[in-house]
Amino acid sequence: MSQNIAMMEAADFRGNDRIEIIRLERPDPAQGEVLLRVASTALCGSDFKLWHGGAEHVAGHEIAGHVQAPGHPLDGQLCAVYIPLHCGTCPACEAGDTQSCLTVSSLIGWNRDGGYAEYLCVPENCLLPVPDDIDARLAPLLLDTIGTSAHALREAARHLRAQAPSVLVTGAGPVGLGVVLAAQALGYVHIDVAEPNPARAAIAADFGASIVPVGSHDKRYDLIVECSGNHAARDLAIHLVLPKGVIVLVGENAAPWTITEDKVFRRKDFALLRTFYFPKGDFAANVELLRANRDRYARLVDDAFPLADLPRKFADFAAGKSIKPVLSFEGDR
Ligand SMILES: [Zn+2]
Ligand SMILES: [Zn+2]
Repeated sequence: MSQNIAMMEAADFRGNDRIEIIRLERPDPAQGEVLLRVASTALCGSDFKLWHGGAEHVAGHEIAGHVQAPGHPLDGQLCAVYIPLHCGTCPACEAGDTQSCLTVSSLIGWNRDGGYAEYLCVPENCLLPVPDDIDARLAPLLLDTIGTSAHALREAARHLRAQAPSVLVTGAGPVGLGVVLAAQALGYVHIDVAEPNPARAAIAADFGASIVPVGSHDKRYDLIVECSGNHAARDLAIHLVLPKGVIVLVGENAAPWTITEDKVFRRKDFALLRTFYFPKGDFAANVELLRANRDRYARLVDDAFPLADLPRKFADFAAGKSIKPVLSFEGDR
């Protein structure tokens, strides 16, 4: 009977920088999925694409929420949502690279409904239980801010030869700032950051990084972690990386990027890596990173607000007024 259909509120990214709060039917979990009651979803710069162009599904991909599945072993448990769907049995999954599953390539919040809503359905193998000492507002940081940045550094470390590598981070958004903290945890001490936004550069400096001008050619580096997605920054990285050094591309940019195969590119041995998200097996290590630097990570979560405020708060975020604001449902319940 129609009056018994459970409804929920959700954000609809209409395109042209418009978000409307709408009512939708509360989703029904399919076989192998559970219903998650969203506690908090962090805003992310990668959502700008959907904000401008519109979203086919409910957006929001940095999600923490409580499992709502009576009888399920995780019922009531706070979980972070691992967004890449993965089969668990292909060669990539078997090697632990669940973020690169060869069988399925759907991402929650992109190719199916995400966390800018009161509820979503999550495949059981995408639930990452969050320990009790980590509160729901910080839990989304375990994903993009900590997971993506730490994975990039772990991959780079496999190719780095310098014992005390000099590091340049280009772009100090949440991921770039996460790279600074994860690099320190790895014991790297010479960390430079190039970032045009003074507020973000100031946080990087407070975290112990040295700020260098954007576009500066003054120094060369063993490791360059490119977090801006800016093509000029990528080109500069090719110039500045030392022989035997490593460039990791973490920033995203949908526009084609052309590499000129000149002597700068050709005449030194270096590794150019692209990394994406993180393997599910890294989650415990990422929890430890959060615990070790809780106050610093918490500083990145500089706003929290209810769903009704998302249209306005998302515009503020897009204007660079906040670092890692979270949509929070906790005040409502
Ligand atoms: Zn994100
Ligand atoms: Zn797989």
